[in-house]
Amino acid sequence: MRSHSLMEALESDLASSRAVCHEYAIALEAIMLRSIKRTLLWAGAALGIAALSLCALITWPEPLFAFSLGAGKIVVASDRPIPPGGGERFLRDCERLLERSPLKAEGRQYRLFVTNDDWRFYLLFFPRPERWGFAWYPGFRGHAFLSSADFDGGRVIHLGYVGTPPRTLAALCAHELTHVIAWEHIGLARLHVPQWVWEGFPDYVGIENRETFEQLRDALGERPVDTPMRVKYGFYPRYRLLVTYFLEKKGWSVDQLLQTRLTEDEATDIMRADGKN
Ligand SMILES: [Zn+2]
Repeated sequence: MRSHSLMEALESDLASSRAVCHEYAIALEAIMLRSIKRTLLWAGAALGIAALSLCALITWPEPLFAFSLGAGKIVVASDRPIPPGGGERFLRDCERLLERSPLKAEGRQYRLFVTNDDWRFYLLFFPRPERWGFAWYPGFRGHAFLSSADFDGGRVIHLGYVGTPPRTLAALCAHELTHVIAWEHIGLARLHVPQWVWEGFPDYVGIENRETFEQLRDALGERPVDTPMRVKYGFYPRYRLLVTYFLEKKGWSVDQLLQTRLTEDEATDIMRADGKN
């Protein structure tokens, strides 16, 4: 009788300790979930603030650039002194390339920021430091950034690599500012512009001694785009070929070009079919 009641007592103790353990586990889980949620919230807020700060910095980068040159259509700012001779020649060359663009600049002045110092470059080019330059247009104050520059030589220097013609400093300037000018012209419709137009048109404007359609078509042949092809024919040779075809052979206006929704494959098929006729 006695042992029976002892067993019962032990069983009831066990049951109550199981219940306590269960409650303890639930409470621990709730605390952990709360702390994970709080950590995620803080991490999200910190990431959001970092992204907003970077956007603000890219939109108003002037405090990071102590030197500037130019009072005309283009103003170039840099984190290092700009040699007046080379700097002015660069501005003239870039402006001359832009003037031959079939898309006229609507803005009064365009700013270009050159990032020579590593920390400034990696900060502003985050998260894609492989770019030689990029354009920024948040709906106002459009401008462009270039990686390091040798103004006297007219060369762009990207992570120690010195660009050679046709990928000159002036060509890259005209390329990036053409992005800004196109962005100003079409606004949010930019989201629908196919990549071959978005990159081909700035190369069409920026490449100094650009080939005729036939010269470029024959030079590129059927080879896929690779580094030697880019070195010789610019940043986006195949896109430029398509843009040259539609502007010069099909007689498209720039607006037609910027409004097209043809994919690269569709545009290439039209160009090839034309060549066979
Ligand atoms: Zn581009």
